[in-house]
Amino acid sequence: MQSAELRSRAWVEVDLDALRANAETVCRAAGPGVGLLPMVKADAYGLGMAEIVRALAGSIAAERLAGFGVAAVAEGEALRAQGWPGRILVFSPTPPAEFERAADTDLTLCLSDLASVSRWASVAGGRGRMLPMHTEIDTGMGRAGFAWNRAAGWGGEVDRLAEGRLRWEGCYTHFHSADGPDLGPTHRQWERFRDAVSALPPDRGGSRRLLHVSNSAGALRCRFPGDLVRPGIFLYGGRVASEHPCPVVSVRARITLAREAAAGTSLGYGVTYVAQRPEQWGTLAIGYGDGLPRILGSAGGAALVHGRRVPIIGRISMDVAVVDLTDVAGAAAGDVATLIGRDGEEEITVEEVAERAGTISYEILTGLSPRLPRVYLSPSAPGG
Ligand SMILES: *Cc1c(COP(=O)(O)O)cnc(C)c1O
Repeated sequence: MQSAELRSRAWVEVDLDALRANAETVCRAAGPGVGLLPMVKADAYGLGMAEIVRALAGSIAAERLAGFGVAAVAEGEALRAQGWPGRILVFSPTPPAEFERAADTDLTLCLSDLASVSRWASVAGGRGRMLPMHTEIDTGMGRAGFAWNRAAGWGGEVDRLAEGRLRWEGCYTHFHSADGPDLGPTHRQWERFRDAVSALPPDRGGSRRLLHVSNSAGALRCRFPGDLVRPGIFLYGGRVASEHPCPVVSVRARITLAREAAAGTSLGYGVTYVAQRPEQWGTLAIGYGDGLPRILGSAGGAALVHGRRVPIIGRISMDVAVVDLTDVAGAAAGDVATLIGRDGEEEITVEEVAERAGTISYEILTGLSPRLPRVYLSPSAPGG
């Protein structure tokens, strides 16, 4: 599709220069010598994994870029298919039925229990080659990982199962509250991780295992020692506590109808809105079927038109939403409304939308539906 066609109805703009600037911010915060493993799961948080990987691989120095993180084998396969030759870590416990596929595409599995280590080792045995794994250590997240306080026990077992078949390349944990006001729990998780790692048997190959603990918040706010950091949301323009990234994502839609609504005109399912005076209404070509949270219709949701903030009125439908344009002189069909992003001096942040919708920026971004074309604002550098 041509760029004009991509912008005919409603679309997501992704600023790749801002993405690259945010990656640099994380690199600087993590310090020299620490590798970057960007998390590109869930289609790079809804922004489009292929373009995001191309942009990052073309901009982060090769010795800095330690690989990419995904959450499903299918995502790793897609990343391989686009030509990324380097490390791909599959976080989240992988269903047993997908282990063979993971080996077919040279993915590195993150494992959390002995049965999985044993299964991955037998896949390796069947192929006659070493397969790579990282072990997760549960320091309080609870959803996966070996217990931090029993590392001496499971560590020996993992080592025995891995012998001659698996390359035990790394160990990691995941913080549950690194973006919260109190960093005490995060420091305790770090101490648990450090204690667990020190109880593990040394690597048989004599190399040191890669240690990694930090998501965006950990990398920006705590700067724990480690070999890699695993940022996600901050790269994509999500704020982390008081750390402000460059905005990456804008969501825009065309006004497809602009018309006068006489006093008493009713609007939308359930008629939650009635014009109190002669008003000017604009129908936007975007709805909850595009990922615009339906609750914005009753939670103070807004759009920007001609640089002015206008309220969303009535209930948001699947395919359209309506705004009150009465105070915006000259707004007409064909004009662009901004649901997330900047227009002139005004801005609607992804955090504002998330807060109104009672959720977090992550869910807003990953909820942007495939019906919205992704438009990339700066040509990504070659590579990847
Ligand atoms: C998603 C994820 C991250 C990235 O977290 P952000 O808060 O988006 O930076 C890091 N590590 C793991 C294991 C994850 O699943």
